This record gives sequence, C-alpha cells and structure tokens, in this order.
Amino acid sequence: MTSASGVAGGTSSNNRCFVGVPLGNLRDEGVTPNNLRATDATFRNQATAGPQSGNQRARETTLVASALFGFDAATLVDAHVHMDFMSNMREVADDAASRGLCFFANTVTPQGYERTCAQLGDLPNVRVGLGLHPRWVAEGLCDETDVALFEQLVSSTRWIGEVGLDFSARYVADGARELQVAAFRRVARAAAQAGDRVLSIHAVRSVGTVLDALEESGSLARCSCILHWFSGSTDDLWRAIRAGCWFSVNERQVRTRRAKEQLKLIPHNRLMLETDLPPAEGVVFSANEIEASLWRTLSHGTLRSQN
Ligand SMILES: [Zn+2]
Repeated sequence: MTSASGVAGGTSSNNRCFVGVPLGNLRDEGVTPNNLRATDATFRNQATAGPQSGNQRARETTLVASALFGFDAATLVDAHVHMDFMSNMREVADDAASRGLCFFANTVTPQGYERTCAQLGDLPNVRVGLGLHPRWVAEGLCDETDVALFEQLVSSTRWIGEVGLDFSARYVADGARELQVAAFRRVARAAAQAGDRVLSIHAVRSVGTVLDALEESGSLARCSCILHWFSGSTDDLWRAIRAGCWFSVNERQVRTRRAKEQLKLIPHNRLMLETDLPPAEGVVFSANEIEASLWRTLSHGTLRSQN
C-alpha cells in the first residue's frame, strides 16, 4: 500500500474506524438531525442550573483553548476534531463560524494536512494541525516519505496533530510498535527544534513512552503538549500535569469511572473540550453534531461536579 492510499482519497473504511463516538450511538441517544436543535437547547437549559454549571465550565474551557489557539470571540472550542474526515468540511467550518464554534482540526497524514489547509487554511475559526497518526504509521499507510514530509512541513506551521503512539494489540505486531516509536521520536524532535509548537497527542497504552519521547526530545519543555482523550494511569496523569501538559476531554471519556476520578486532578486552566468526531473518513457531517457533543460533555455529571 502506498502512503496516500485510503487517506488522500478520503475513502471510508470501517476497519480503520477512528476512535470517537459512532454515529449510531448518537442516534441511540435520541439525537437525530430533526431534534438536534431541541437537544442542544435542553443541554443549555440544564447547564445553567448551578454554580458548577455547564455554562461556567463552557466559559472556562473556551478561555483556556482560546488562549492556546489564539481564537477571538469563541463561544465553544473543539480542541480535537477531524475536519479532514468530512466530505463537506468547508460547509461545516463556515456553519461553525456563524455559531462561534472554533476548531483545532487534526489530520492523520501530512497529505491530509495539505488538503485540509487548502480548504480551511483561510478561516479564522480553524487551526489545521499537521498530523502523522500512529495507527496510519502502524498499518503502513504512512512511511518514510511521509515522516520526511512531516519534518519538512513543521517549519511552516505552529499547529501539530494528530501525532503519538498506540500500543493497542492490533497496532504493535510485526515491528509496528518500533515503527511507531521511531516515527514519533522524529516528530517530537522536529517539534522541539522548531519550538513553540502546539501538539495534540494520541497516547493509547503508551503514555509513559510518549512522555519519555517528548521529554528526551525537548518538546515537553519547548512546546505546548495536549494529551487528547487521556486514558493512562493516575501516576501517568500526575507526571503529565507536573510537566505542564494540557488535556482535551470528550463525551465518551467523561462517562468512564476512571475519568470521574482523574478529571478532579486536572487544573481547570489545563482542561479543554474535544469531540474526536467524526468516527470514520469520508462522511457528511455538521457543526450541529459537533456542538451537541460538546454540550453533552459539559452537561455530564463528571464535569459538572468537578471542583
Ligand atoms: Zn483524533
């Protein structure tokens, strides 16, 4: 397989279904195109209920993300979204702008980054991240040429993501783990050498190795590192907090028992929202679905009860 196959073409593939909330689940929860607006209104009403309200947390997370990404007048920020998976990405971004929604649009390959920049690079409510996703590296969809292109492009952008490591069983066999680590070390070194970059980082069963690579390269000290959808141990979390990392959380994450405990430890000025949507490539999506997911995260008890 060549590096661009299945990626540059934007073809949908369930077996490379991306981490996130399957659209089917949104429908199971009664969120359909016809009642999304009503659902949003319900969440907003719920979110005004008390001092630890979703609206207060919305303002806090928006302020944190706006400062990091340099957004003006955002109402909500999705700090990790895959605009490149949307066949109608420009339409979604334009609609989002009219709602005050701002995005850190992560990509999964350097080619995907260039394609997304061509469509969204002029929009003030979108930052496009230069990506080299560990699953694409593990599956051979990104190779040496892509890593070299990534290193070349780092000098031209402040925004980097999605990058990282994934040590889930299916992504470590037959040397894939070593390929991932070698590629991520180069990513971390390139970011550190450029300096002052903002990274959104995927770390599944690999937080310690990710933090080691960031620390050894110097990017932990010289860049702003966001751990997206943190799923490590509490010891890993403390290490990341002490190292000054940011965290972006999504609606699936806040439902877990582990998140309920760990989110209490994350300083408010390091916490942002994300959706990681859509769950697969090549889909028609909407700003409405993104906004609804962000409000569900804000309205969940785990965030509302956070001290
Ligand atoms: Zn992602």
